[in-house]
Amino acid sequence: MLKKDKRRLFRRVRRTLGRFTPLRADCGELCDRRCCSADEQTGMLLFPGERTDLPVQSGAQRRVAVCAGTCERRNRPLSCRFFPFLPVLENGKVTVQLDRRAMGVCPLVEASSHVRFSQRFLHRARRAGAQLFADEDCRRFLNEAAEEGEQTAQIFAIFCEKK
Ligand code: SF4
Ligand code: SF4
Repeated sequence: MLKKDKRRLFRRVRRTLGRFTPLRADCGELCDRRCCSADEQTGMLLFPGERTDLPVQSGAQRRVAVCAGTCERRNRPLSCRFFPFLPVLENGKVTVQLDRRAMGVCPLVEASSHVRFSQRFLHRARRAGAQLFADEDCRRFLNEAAEEGEQTAQIFAIFCEKK
């Protein structure tokens, strides 16, 4: 059960993120839009209470927007706006880090040390992250996402060792 209606919160978060994207250029041209190459089985996780016009698959704990690779850009889900970053709470401070769940999908994550990310995007994403962390349901959602990222990184490390 959600603590409250999130429409105002998500409107504010979308305004904060604005039109800024992780790179000033269109990174989709580099990778043929890998993160938008979903099928009917995969998609982007929706924040608790987030609404979308896209088809939604609901599980016991989570809802996924299934887009099959196209959407109305101005209405894309929040997870797509942050990707491949994730707001995290570290030592009581909200920051943004590369989302480790994007390993193996997004080339920007693998090449991150060579990439100049947009500072304006990162600044906005931090602010938007702070707005989300102030909400109990979104805080839980983001903390779970960070844990999943940690697990993904561990699996990758084991996989790379075996190679
Ligand atoms: S997978 Fe990464 S590089 Fe490719 S479009 Fe998505 S965010 Fe950009
Ligand atoms: S909802 Fe839009 S931005 Fe998000 S993965 Fe699908 S096509 Fe890409």
